[in-house]
Amino acid sequence: MSTRTRFLTHRRAFLIGAAAFAAAGPRLGVRAQTPDFVFPEFPELQPLPEIAERDGGPLVVVATTGIIGDLVSQIGGGRVEVRTILPANADPHSFEPAPQDIAMVDDAAVVFVHGLELDAWAETILENADGDFTVVTVTDGISIADFHSDEDDHDHEEDDHEDDDGHHHGEGDPHVWFDPTRTAQMAANIAAGLTGADPDGADGYAGRLAAYQAELTALDGQIAERIALIPEDRRVIVTNHEALGYFADRYGLTIVGTVIPGMSVEAEPSAQEIAALLEVIERENVTAIFAENTVNPALAEQLAAQAGIQVVATLFTDTLGESGSGADTYIGLMRYDTRVIVKALIAD
Ligand SMILES: [Zn+2]
Repeated sequence: MSTRTRFLTHRRAFLIGAAAFAAAGPRLGVRAQTPDFVFPEFPELQPLPEIAERDGGPLVVVATTGIIGDLVSQIGGGRVEVRTILPANADPHSFEPAPQDIAMVDDAAVVFVHGLELDAWAETILENADGDFTVVTVTDGISIADFHSDEDDHDHEEDDHEDDDGHHHGEGDPHVWFDPTRTAQMAANIAAGLTGADPDGADGYAGRLAAYQAELTALDGQIAERIALIPEDRRVIVTNHEALGYFADRYGLTIVGTVIPGMSVEAEPSAQEIAALLEVIERENVTAIFAENTVNPALAEQLAAQAGIQVVATLFTDTLGESGSGADTYIGLMRYDTRVIVKALIAD
């Protein structure tokens, strides 16, 4: 389907969705505020070990997404020059590469791709590029879950999601970075890729990998501690698109519904799906719908208004934020989102 056709389909589905809201009528439910909660800030990060400069200049590598680009920078330090294809705040699911993106990989030694259909557009780039590079799929060897929620059944038990081998759609949920223990494997794959292209840097890459993986272990514990501050009966959320499955699974949140069905960011819910979501929001006492920097939150906002709850549209999920946003690194993104989620679920 062309971009334009997809856009028109998207618009039409959106209008149907909006009409369904109008028909459903308002539901109001304002909750008491808990104004004196103070979020325990994350400790300052320590610098990673120095790495020796490379003879002949930095190793030029390409990363498809900003999250991968940051991981490569963390492991490679000044020994590598990382070029990232996906711009800040751009959505990886619907990105379409331009000719300059293809030219970007021509003189790269390594191209790091995510895989799991998140950056399927990378194939166009790799097929059309002239360079002599190796391709590393950073999610290789990571255990992939499938949190896909059946669109006709928003209220199934959360245990249903686990290891249901007979019910896979595509290759499973690509948003593996929302579990820092899985991100540690991405980092290891990146270190192996850098070492393969630049064996003289092996010790330097290994040292930074070990230090960075220790940061990820610390991050994992720090997130768990902060999520534990949310009263148990409030650890229930609705998300805009299905990005938070690994995060919810790791830290004990329950995602009872998703505004945009399936793994796509372009599909829209049917009138029945909207009605079912409104019902589950009320029944499960959901207090917030979480939306992100890359996906239009308009539909989530309508749904939330209808349900009398808030939309928290400030998550960074699939891509990093601009420099200075606080989410311009992977660890920054995870800290930022944890802060947003904990504050929203406690304060509301
Ligand atoms: Zn996504």
